Amino acid sequence: MTSHTEQSAVTVLGLGPMGRALTGAFLDAGMRTTVWNRTPGKDRELVERGAVGARSPEAAVAASRLTVVCVVNYDAVDAIVRRGAVTDALKGRTVVNLTADTPDRARDTEAWAAEQGIGYLDGAIMTPTTTIGTPAAVFLHSGPEELYRQHRLALDALGGTHTHLGEEIGRAAAYDIALLDIFWTAMAGYAHALAVARAEGVSARELAPFAKGIGAILPPIFEQSAEEVDSGSFSGEGNPITSAVSSMAHIVHTSEAHGIDAGVMRAAEGLARRAIGRGHGTDGFLRITEILNPR
Ligand code: NDP
Repeated sequence: MTSHTEQSAVTVLGLGPMGRALTGAFLDAGMRTTVWNRTPGKDRELVERGAVGARSPEAAVAASRLTVVCVVNYDAVDAIVRRGAVTDALKGRTVVNLTADTPDRARDTEAWAAEQGIGYLDGAIMTPTTTIGTPAAVFLHSGPEELYRQHRLALDALGGTHTHLGEEIGRAAAYDIALLDIFWTAMAGYAHALAVARAEGVSARELAPFAKGIGAILPPIFEQSAEEVDSGSFSGEGNPITSAVSSMAHIVHTSEAHGIDAGVMRAAEGLARRAIGRGHGTDGFLRITEILNPR
């Protein structure tokens, strides 16, 4: 049985913008929070707010049953925790790794943790630092359900919504990768749109209200197309790929006429043309999912 004091203690390894936000939320929740960062000095403000600054990562992890790691990637995680003294100090304790990386790296870390007798949960943070400690934060978790249940109270101190996606450890990273795929390709599209708009004398400020409108079209598409995509049907009623590809060609021509690289749009247009070439011209644009990964 975990005591109230143990539940109220946490260690945070990594004090980049996200690690600092996580620490701030633990402190606001009244938890005894021990921190460590590779580069010294980043804990100053947190220590002023009540955090305990540890002199080494092994001292930091020894201070709590639960350690939250949040650094740039799993190479950095390994550099911190896969070292004799730190690994030894972690034995019998739990690591919640909120660092972003790939599903394979999560599986590899779980295998290492199991060999070392360390409890391991993997997680992903889907919202910016400003949301941490507020209802707007979104966390995804995967790993042993019982371990998740044991530490749920501490994780709740971070605010927002926590979803346990299952015991398969790569699950949180798999969602993270898919969701960031949406985010970064959309951001690349937005950056390209801003460049083309500026070449046509349209400022970002002028475009913004209409860009918001385009963004708002997407959520219902995600919702409505999900069943179709899962069942492998791609209705093009109302907007077949043949029509979509023509609209894409206009974007390519306009941007290249201004000497602007249209590589991102050309990639999308190329996939759409492949779908048409395979006889799917009357299907909807999401047919390209099958071109990318045939079932
Ligand atoms: P960074 O991704 O830049 O991570 C910075 C942290 O990583 C610092 O603590 C840094 O230490 C540490 N680090 C880097 N390399 C090493 C190394 N070789 N050994 C030890 N520590 C290392 O900033 P964030 O804090 O913003 O992000 C942390 C994680 O959170 C990332 O995986 C990110 O994808 C994820 N995330 C961040 C969001 C955000 O809005 N910032 C949103 C959602 C997820 P040092 O100070 O010594 O350089």
